Amino acid sequence: MNPVTKRDYYEVLGVGKDAGDQDIKSAYRKLALKFHPDRNPDDPRAEDKFKEASEAYSVLSDGQKRAAYDRFGHSGLQGSAGGPGFDPDAFSDFSDILGDLFGFGDLFGAGGGGGRRRSRAQRGEDVRYDLEISFEEAVFGLPAEIQVPRMEPCDRCRGNGSEPGSGPTACPTCHGRGEILYQQSFLSIRRTCSTCGGSGQIIRNPCGECHGHGYKQVQRKLKVNIPAGVDDGTRLRLSHEGQPGVNGGPGGDLYVFIKVREHSFFERRDHDLHCTIPVNIAQAALGCEVEVPTLEGEQKLKIPEGSQSGAQFRLRNKGVPVLNGGGRGDLYVHLDVKVPARLTREQRRLMEQLREVLPVDNAPAEKGLFEKVKDYFM
Ligand SMILES: [Zn+2]
Ligand SMILES: [Zn+2]
Repeated sequence: MNPVTKRDYYEVLGVGKDAGDQDIKSAYRKLALKFHPDRNPDDPRAEDKFKEASEAYSVLSDGQKRAAYDRFGHSGLQGSAGGPGFDPDAFSDFSDILGDLFGFGDLFGAGGGGGRRRSRAQRGEDVRYDLEISFEEAVFGLPAEIQVPRMEPCDRCRGNGSEPGSGPTACPTCHGRGEILYQQSFLSIRRTCSTCGGSGQIIRNPCGECHGHGYKQVQRKLKVNIPAGVDDGTRLRLSHEGQPGVNGGPGGDLYVFIKVREHSFFERRDHDLHCTIPVNIAQAALGCEVEVPTLEGEQKLKIPEGSQSGAQFRLRNKGVPVLNGGGRGDLYVHLDVKVPARLTREQRRLMEQLREVLPVDNAPAEKGLFEKVKDYFM
């Protein structure tokens, strides 16, 4: 096929640009059945048509490739399947697609699960690990040691699944080829051997340690540096610390999900901390100095006279460190002016005196008149 005269993939499958996954699948299914080379042994053009349809399907059935194709056409697929270097002769790949499409078990009456060929390198699975830490640990970070279950090649059989001294033998079903040719009146298809799962070998004498799996679960201790500033829901990725890959494929990743326990009085909003400090009406009216908690211990804070309930004071750089970056958030102290709920006789007498001299103004307050945040540079 000349790439210059490449037909539009939608045109090849005979579907519209807005076709859904099901439309694309069934269009390809029809074409694949019609043009399959085994069904058209005397028509070389059928094979081209089959390859063309298979290529179109491999792109349009893959959301990412389809998006690239929609935007940039054939040139959007450079380097991926469908672009130059795409090998439509790799029929074994398409037998997987065909298997997904038709369910060969039904079509040919041949049972067996649709096992992918084991000889293909596969990436290991990702693993999730949930780690709960305290509020302070999240703020300052910590070196944590976690135990993660992971599959590792069995020592006893070195991962081949057979008892030492008795290697695997060729599969009797497929005679070591790993696939079987099914032939029905009009069409033949290569299918992964279900006896050996496509490896072409079977284990006659399974390893006593791993029962022939070749892998066993071990608890691995891992040191994880939890960086200062992580928050509830932060996800740390440790590359290749997940399950190992198959046949030389890369390992999966380990994701550590951080759960941070709540603090009894600090509330965290991004990198800032908030806490509420109560003062009595005399302290608020006359001003005072209070001790406020910070993550590094108590600190003095001057409350100016005439401070209102709800006033905020900012202590710079007393918040949470910014993850992977410089600087820290701030600590906001919210003032809560407490009115005494019960008065002693002495207090009542003084309050009544105060009432005589305080001006009365019960007009509704104007909107938006909130006290400005006071900055404390420490
Ligand atoms: Zn073993
Ligand atoms: Zn086999």
